[in-house]
Amino acid sequence: MADNNCPKCKKSIVAKEAATTSIACSGEECRRRFHRTCVNIDDAVFEAIQKNSMVSFHCDECKNQSPRSFASKLQTIEEKVNKVSNGVNQIQGRMYQQYFQFGNQPLQALGAGSGGMGPGVGPGGPGGLDGKKHPQQNNLIVVGNNCNSDRLQVVCDYGRWVQVGKFATNTSEEDVIDHLAEELKINKNLVKCTKLVKNDANLSQLSYCKFKISIPDYRFNELFNEAIWPSGVMVSPFTPRSQLNQNRL
Ligand SMILES: [Zn+2]
Ligand SMILES: [Zn+2]
Repeated sequence: MADNNCPKCKKSIVAKEAATTSIACSGEECRRRFHRTCVNIDDAVFEAIQKNSMVSFHCDECKNQSPRSFASKLQTIEEKVNKVSNGVNQIQGRMYQQYFQFGNQPLQALGAGSGGMGPGVGPGGPGGLDGKKHPQQNNLIVVGNNCNSDRLQVVCDYGRWVQVGKFATNTSEEDVIDHLAEELKINKNLVKCTKLVKNDANLSQLSYCKFKISIPDYRFNELFNEAIWPSGVMVSPFTPRSQLNQNRL
């Protein structure tokens, strides 16, 4: 066993004498060895510690493990969890991209015979369904997910809608957008929401209202996450009856 340094005096603990001249801290994640003389463990106490498993030595740092230091540990863990969950979101986003980019194309068009699908499909590469080349086909890698900035106006693809209800009639589109922006950590500007009311409806006679809602395609499936909706809210795919009356119930 090599000599270790005592954390207190920074001097070495002679390995062959360590068993008698030093003592190890019992702190779960500490276990450091100190000179007995540095931490005031006299022979009597030392003997007691060795004979009785109920008696243990904790260094000053471990003794001072206060709720505050516990809280800071928790915060560190929380930050790590957030990083992991951001990573998962990114992976999910990329999967959606792959789907929207390649999902509807026949395998052959993806270049299955010459290098397979994936980032290799680039400008001038294999075309889509119609067999024509797509000169502007790009290879997305990342979809931005910072909802703290309103400065840049972003244009996203919106292909699908859900209808959501039932809400009290005084619920506004703004209320729903605010709620989703917070729950999905998405910029308000990216949430589309329309109150579904017949043109001739008398609001005071309705007992509830519904909304049709969309968010950008690459995150659309998140609208079906039950955890973002208040208890009892029902979410279903919204299929417009026709282009003309799609804003009606
Ligand atoms: Zn020491
Ligand atoms: Zn310790």
